[in-house]
Amino acid sequence: MIDETVPIWSVKQAILRCHVSRWRRAIHHKRRGSPMPVKDIPIPTPVTQPYWDALDRHELMIQRCAQCSAANFYPRLACPSCGSRRIDWVRASGRASLHSYVINHVPAPGFEDEVPYVIAIVQLEEGPRMMTNLREVVIAPEALPLDMALEVTFEGCGGRTLPMFRPAGTAA
Ligand SMILES: [Zn+2]
Repeated sequence: MIDETVPIWSVKQAILRCHVSRWRRAIHHKRRGSPMPVKDIPIPTPVTQPYWDALDRHELMIQRCAQCSAANFYPRLACPSCGSRRIDWVRASGRASLHSYVINHVPAPGFEDEVPYVIAIVQLEEGPRMMTNLREVVIAPEALPLDMALEVTFEGCGGRTLPMFRPAGTAA
């Protein structure tokens, strides 16, 4: 129900005041200088701890099922193929191929200084696919043919080591 005791001009004024106040808050926030957003850093769990520990040694470890021999990534308690909990850790060769990718121009929080960057799904030589970023590449579709040969490289980030991929043979 419309309150006819309130003149329409005062409603407009109230809306305007609200906008001005929001604008002032934005200016104030900008002047104070808000801290740069930081990247979300993965937190190991009991299941994933061996994976993270291996990365610190610059080794890429994946799981292999002792029951059906399926190679799996990401780390899990049980084999996604057969359900067995008899899981072994094996060192991956680090060789992979480019399965799919997107060139990202809209940074996630903490990635503001890195755009554009490549978010890729790579297929490890052992079979599993993993999401990662590409390094040491020209960031353009013509320079990123699907199935291109890649190799793992390791990068420190917030006290953790992350696996990235670059064209095979990049290492001196
Ligand atoms: Zn299995």
